[in-house]
Amino acid sequence: MKCSQCNSDDTKVIESRDVADGESVRRRRACVVCGYRFTTYERLERPQLIVVKNDGTRQLFSRQKLLAGLYRACEKTSVTSMQLEKLVQSIEHELYACADSEVSSRKVGEMVMDRLSALDEVAYVRFASVYRRFTDIASFEQELSHMRERRAHDTLG
Ligand SMILES: [Zn+2]
Repeated sequence: MKCSQCNSDDTKVIESRDVADGESVRRRRACVVCGYRFTTYERLERPQLIVVKNDGTRQLFSRQKLLAGLYRACEKTSVTSMQLEKLVQSIEHELYACADSEVSSRKVGEMVMDRLSALDEVAYVRFASVYRRFTDIASFEQELSHMRERRAHDTLG
């Protein structure tokens, strides 16, 4: 990154922050030579992540799609869009942190449900019912009681 004042190549990052969309990062830079400060917005270069569905088909991981599904599950609940943004961001961080370029849709679903169960029960149940396609009320109730056990466990520390 060149300094626009003195043309030096020697600049350093003094502050770095993810921009809301999670796809770019805002950097405050300072020129080491003349001290000039400026801001850059840089797109994060991420490897493409492939999601493998249960039937073996593959598609590119899409945060938009994931977010859309979450918004549907969270309609009329107390979950805020900020919480959902954070949820998706934490999933992305985890996914991009492991070196694999492929992840199963099952794993993504589990990651979502883990986090959603901590946020809101209704949202969790809605997401889980779409995701797992509960075929009967028994398995559905089983899932609910598992979730409550996990929560009780978490609360006890
Ligand atoms: Zn400079």
